[in-house]
Amino acid sequence: MIAVIKKGTSDKQIENLASWLKAQGLDVHLSKGSTHTIVGLVGDTSKIDEELLESLEIVESVKRISEPFKSANRKFHPDDSVIEVGNTSVGGDIFAFIAGPCSVESEEQVMEIAKAVKAAGATMLRGGAFKPRTSPYDFQGLKADGIELLLKAKKETGLPIVTEIMNANHLPLFEDVDVIQVGARNMQNFELLKELGKTKKAILLKRGLANTLKELLMSAEYIMAGGNENVILCERGIRTFETYTRNTLDLSAIPLIHELSHLPIIVDPSHATGASRLVKPMALAAAAGGADGLMIEVHNDPQHALCDGAQSLTPDAFADVCSSVKKVLEVI
Ligand code: PEP
Ligand code: MN
Repeated sequence: MIAVIKKGTSDKQIENLASWLKAQGLDVHLSKGSTHTIVGLVGDTSKIDEELLESLEIVESVKRISEPFKSANRKFHPDDSVIEVGNTSVGGDIFAFIAGPCSVESEEQVMEIAKAVKAAGATMLRGGAFKPRTSPYDFQGLKADGIELLLKAKKETGLPIVTEIMNANHLPLFEDVDVIQVGARNMQNFELLKELGKTKKAILLKRGLANTLKELLMSAEYIMAGGNENVILCERGIRTFETYTRNTLDLSAIPLIHELSHLPIIVDPSHATGASRLVKPMALAAAAGGADGLMIEVHNDPQHALCDGAQSLTPDAFADVCSSVKKVLEVI
């Protein structure tokens, strides 16, 4: 349920209303937008007397939110959310370029790539330390050592780092990580999402291989319900009957998420296509479609990458994507 507050209402009056609602056992979210202040109510709102609320002097209107996602709903928070990440942010007017290897393989590899992607225009460095591989016999990542190497690369380049968590017990290792990624395979690992909801970290939540946008937003809701509003969504392709691509990039997710939610949405054209030659056209399409950023796999030696070499761009190809995407952004 949301209550739209009349213009000119003082902060004190809004506070009084919020405490009255909290006393009725509800979570209260205040969104001070460019035009209106909105009081969002989460919890069992059946106890609330809608007419009484609407009759209050400071209340302009009251609406029930029919969608099951509340905190992530744009009706709760009409302005775009901007998620602060180190010296940069995601959402609003800032376009994020997140780039780096699928997995951290060695100090030389991650340092070389970090410097190259920074020079090309990346705003954050990605790299997997804990890798969710389909086969248990494939490289599983350097784990804690991989995070250490990412932190070294962050120190060297100043780029905030993004890396995936697979198990909430590993959270202490992520203390200095700027953005914690929840991969497609864990999008509905609700216990993990609840633990991340207790932190204040920025969370990059990737859409599951076979999940709807409503399910993606409900997973974001799990994190937000715990008190962590710093969620960035990521469209990374879904599984369809098409076999020429690794997944099918659902570009309509971008305008739909913007319609339904205030959370930023970025696109990962690397996992969406599985082929380096398809990354640039899909990156341009994502930028044109209103994405808040891109996450792209870049490797200094794609042919010998321990993971996802076929979809990885060289640093030069990434630089070309960045400059072309910037041109698209200027046009739109
Ligand atoms: C990744 O970003 O390295 C990854 C494993 O992606 P996804 O979870 O989208 O498959
Ligand atoms: Mn990968």
